[in-house]
Amino acid sequence: MSAWEQIVRSVRTIRLDTLRTKFVVFTVLATLFSTLAMTVMLYGRNKRTLSDRLGNELGGLSSEAAREMGAWIDQRVYDLRLRAAPYVVSDNLARASGRNGAQALSRLHDYLGSIRQNLPGHEGLAILDTDGQVLTSSGSRTGFRLSTDRLNNLRTRDALVGDTFWDPAINKAAIVLVVPIRRDDGLFLGALAAKVNLDGVRDTLKELSGESPRSIYIITEQSRVVISSTGNPADVMKAALPDAATRELVEREGQTVAQSRADGKEVVAVLRRIPQLRWAAVAEAPRSEGAREGSALRAQTFLLLIPLLLGVSLLAFVVAVLLTRPLELLTEAAGRVAAGDLSAEFPAGSGEVGYLTRAFNTVVARLREKESQGELEKLSLTDALTGLYNRRHLMGTLASEVQRSRRQRRAFTVLLADVDKFKQYNDTHGHLAGDAALVKVAEVFRRTTRAVDCVARYGGEEFVVMLLECPLATAVLVAERIRARVADQDLGQGKLTVSIGLAEYPDGGDTPEELIATADAAMYQAKSSGRDQVVVAGAMQERAAKKARRKKESSA
Ligand code: GH3
Ligand code: MG
Ligand code: MG
Repeated sequence: MSAWEQIVRSVRTIRLDTLRTKFVVFTVLATLFSTLAMTVMLYGRNKRTLSDRLGNELGGLSSEAAREMGAWIDQRVYDLRLRAAPYVVSDNLARASGRNGAQALSRLHDYLGSIRQNLPGHEGLAILDTDGQVLTSSGSRTGFRLSTDRLNNLRTRDALVGDTFWDPAINKAAIVLVVPIRRDDGLFLGALAAKVNLDGVRDTLKELSGESPRSIYIITEQSRVVISSTGNPADVMKAALPDAATRELVEREGQTVAQSRADGKEVVAVLRRIPQLRWAAVAEAPRSEGAREGSALRAQTFLLLIPLLLGVSLLAFVVAVLLTRPLELLTEAAGRVAAGDLSAEFPAGSGEVGYLTRAFNTVVARLREKESQGELEKLSLTDALTGLYNRRHLMGTLASEVQRSRRQRRAFTVLLADVDKFKQYNDTHGHLAGDAALVKVAEVFRRTTRAVDCVARYGGEEFVVMLLECPLATAVLVAERIRARVADQDLGQGKLTVSIGLAEYPDGGDTPEELIATADAAMYQAKSSGRDQVVVAGAMQERAAKKARRKKESSA
């Protein structure tokens, strides 16, 4: 069996042909479709809202990180410039290359030592001469050497922000900041340099990203990652963002960008430039996070949908039962009426079905009336013993047939039969056996005539047949056949014969009574001629009878 056949079969088993099932199925499907459509729409909108929310959050984080980073640098430069400004610094630096240079240097060294205590995160401080050489330092000494280019830059500038780098001496990521030292008249004497670890910035970024799986990092122009809220700082320094990724982020600064990373991670990220530096802050979140919230949303939606559907189905079922119950009762009733049971009355409710039931009850009542009327009518038309038409009905039919035949100038024949020596039969076998014999004789009459012929019990053991549109010659044949069959018929207690007289309209009479009288006379003629024979009334008719008799004899 194919899958399709299986589906068709299982659909059949739920009996879609009943009104109730149709209603329930329709309601449930209608609810399902509209709810699903609405769910899909809401789901789509919520998903968009979710991704908008994530984008906004990342945008906020990147802006804040950029601001924090900028502010941190500003604060460090400010601190350093404050420390480079005092007279004691420029004076001792100016004198360092002179005669008492060693004393001046030692004073500068002490100065550095004293200020470093108040500058947390400063791993080392150094005084540089105009050639960029370290004259004296405090703390870690590495990373202070400046290129001539940078030194020249510093002559005209307020500060110089170096690259970040991993300093193995202190085992930390660090940055070198340099501010110039000038004489009162502005002459460039050298510089104060500080190496600051990036722990403070990293803590700020970590705080910003919080518990969520967002990562915030600072990248340089060259896409090198400087600090990151996540990961080991030493590894972070070695990491770099692909150039194409950085370019895309920079081009669409402040907007959410979806990217695939080299390690296969799918992320959404937002970049913000840090105005003080040629760096930028990037906030990033795995794209799956949006999807996870989305699937939670989907689960929520389905959890809502299932009880809703169940509720609607139950409601639909109850309504369907209420709606279809009266119809089912009516259907059942119609079945009973169709089977012939007209006795029942059906309780009618309100509404259309109520109206239908009332109409149905009326129809049933009318049918009942008709049926009882019909029975009465039949009773008055037929003879109780034989079931043949009674004399009254025969006379009525005969009267209208006379009229019709008169109008249409057509002939018909009246056949009158009397059972021979019936008194004797009664006397021999009893009245009941006589009755039974009459019933059997009547049966022969019915069988031997056509449905259009009116067969009646005219009196006790007398029968009349009105043979419609039947010429005398044919009527004689019919009469002969009746006679022969009665004579052959076994009546249980023996046999009987009939004597038959025939009279044709209009020769045999112009009224029912005349016709009957003529046929009666012919019948008596048959009796007197020895019984068990057919006699046609009148001379002309006699000839026809003789002819028929000859025909019968020759065929026998
Ligand atoms: P024939 O006609 O050949 O001259 O003889 P017959 O014995 O038939 O004579 P008649 O016509 O005088 O008798 C008719 C009898 O039929 C009289 C009556 O007892 C009987 N009879 C009439 N109606 C019924 C009936 O309904 N049932 C029974 N069992 N007998 C009936
Ligand atoms: Mg009689
Ligand atoms: Mg008789």
